Amino acid sequence: MRILVTGGAGFIGSALVRHLVGDVGAEVLTVDKLTYAGNLASLKSIENAPNHRFLRADICDVAAMHAAFDEFRPDRVMHLAAESHVDRSITGAGEFVQTNVIGTFNMLEAARRYWDQQTGSAKEDFRFLHVSTDEVYGSLGEDGLFTETTAYDPSSPYSASKAASDHLATAWHRTYGLPVVLSNCSNNYGPYHFPEKLIPLIILNALEGKQLPIYGNGVNVRDWLYVDDHAKALHLIASRGRLGEKYNVGGRNERRNIDVVKRICEIMDRLRPNSAPHAQLIHHVTDRPGHDARYAIDATKLERELGWRAQENFDTGIEKTVRWYLENQWWWEPLRGGVYAGERLGVLEQP
Ligand code: NAD
Repeated sequence: MRILVTGGAGFIGSALVRHLVGDVGAEVLTVDKLTYAGNLASLKSIENAPNHRFLRADICDVAAMHAAFDEFRPDRVMHLAAESHVDRSITGAGEFVQTNVIGTFNMLEAARRYWDQQTGSAKEDFRFLHVSTDEVYGSLGEDGLFTETTAYDPSSPYSASKAASDHLATAWHRTYGLPVVLSNCSNNYGPYHFPEKLIPLIILNALEGKQLPIYGNGVNVRDWLYVDDHAKALHLIASRGRLGEKYNVGGRNERRNIDVVKRICEIMDRLRPNSAPHAQLIHHVTDRPGHDARYAIDATKLERELGWRAQENFDTGIEKTVRWYLENQWWWEPLRGGVYAGERLGVLEQP
């Protein structure tokens, strides 16, 4: 099995590539532009694996994508490359439209051209997984869950660009017959998460005795999924998901942001008993415009059809995550000292 993964140097992409290369034993070509969010250090554990290759390229570069398809000859594409940070989309939407909409269009067209040239089992077995987010559905009230039939209602430039890309992927299946399947996942957390995102930001600020910033009153609810559970779900959906269908992915782990932060503080208090109580560092800041109140996923379709179950609950996953950051300073320190401290100083990224 030869799998072309876009965005494989990012947070979820690197978890997926490590899983495909290390556990599944697939031949993988990682295609990544290495924006500030891409980091080859996240693929260090497989750097000598003979079944992994890396190509630094922009998915908006049509010629480079055609060459990648022609040379690698994938059986499958798993498309994750995207601009993914909501706050950045508010201050600079252009990159989001470019990569998420135009880039996805390019990937679909490059895949269609390549697929059209295939015959026999190479044509029949080819699949394109488009990886997306639950944020395309907008915001929930206190009750209810997003299902695969929930109408799209995106709030931010990020989620609007992802919604557009989802529609393109579905249209390429309906119009051209391209064997496409989609996934829409809730908020991920875990190792190798860029340190401006809520959970790593809180862990590292707590470690350094800095303020723990939280948007507004912190009652926004997110449905957290451990990243390795997502990676396994993506492999399953790409392998066995019904073509033209979409699958919601979520771990049934709804938490208010404030409770996530307090939980991290409790773990830090236990692991660093000589520090003052970390919850004293919590600091409320002005809320994000258009901040969705609640996301929650109904993953019944994925569970029933493909037998997927999240293996980590939030308590076990967050403990593993905190410990990982405490033990892997080599990975996050250059990011805290570089991009984050310079370009992003004072800018808060939360889910
Ligand atoms: P990320 O920002 O950590 O990684 C994105 C990767 O894409 C980076 O390695 C970056 O270098 C690469 N990239 C960006 N623009 C590119 C371009 N033009 N060409 C090639 N590579 C490019 O994002 P993530 O959190 O790992 O998310 C991956 C995918 O999963 C995205 O499509 C995102 O919408 C989706 N998703 C994310 C979450 C989440 O909680 N993070 C939840 C559901 C879905």
